[in-house]
Amino acid sequence: MRVLLVEDDEPVAESLRRGLMRYGFEVEWVTTGRAALDHPGPYDVVLLDLGLPDTDGLDVCKALRARGDVPIIVISARSDETDRVVGLEIGADDYVSKPFGVREVIARIRAVMRRARPRTPAEAPGSGPDRYGPRLTVDRKAARVRLDGEEVALAPKEYDLLAFLTEEPGALMSREQIMEAVWDANWFGPTKTLDVHVAALRRKLAGAITIEAVRGVGFRLEIVEDGGGDPGTGTDSAAS
Ligand code: CA
Repeated sequence: MRVLLVEDDEPVAESLRRGLMRYGFEVEWVTTGRAALDHPGPYDVVLLDLGLPDTDGLDVCKALRARGDVPIIVISARSDETDRVVGLEIGADDYVSKPFGVREVIARIRAVMRRARPRTPAEAPGSGPDRYGPRLTVDRKAARVRLDGEEVALAPKEYDLLAFLTEEPGALMSREQIMEAVWDANWFGPTKTLDVHVAALRRKLAGAITIEAVRGVGFRLEIVEDGGGDPGTGTDSAAS
């Protein structure tokens, strides 16, 4: 996912950029409103500081919104309620006040993206299940998972967890984000149940996906792209 970061404060921008990249985001960083509006894109979401050297961030927000519906998250040092209200009124999707942690920003990005493209494009009528690599498909309409064409029996929360992690393969998801998305909006308790569900998915979908634990942070799901040489079905990809 590509983020356009519009922020003139270098230390803030640098730490945010590094933090976002650590979680698998690509970051395009510009320092002025002009450069933001001139940026050719494409990007999936805009993080927009309001206090810019050349223009008011609110004007940039308005101009970006007039062009299309890219999600915009306003970031500002001004803890002024008016800014927040005005920002949201002129089309920002969400708002974070400085100082903020990178995880908070990422949680907002994910929330905004989920609202922007409800689940996945595959939910459009008539389209089939989502395919992840050569072996795994997830049918989000029917909540069914198939491995090599065979349905895999998943517990409801195992399915929810897989559906969440496959929204963005390769991205590092924190435990908090996962707990919030899959279990409960306000989960602050122990997350042992998450490990149990991760272990179940690893076992049931071995060879199709990997779920890497990143110590102290969370998990990263990766798709196994090269079939892994399943010995049972020797169907070669010669036909086309
Ligand atoms: Ca600024």
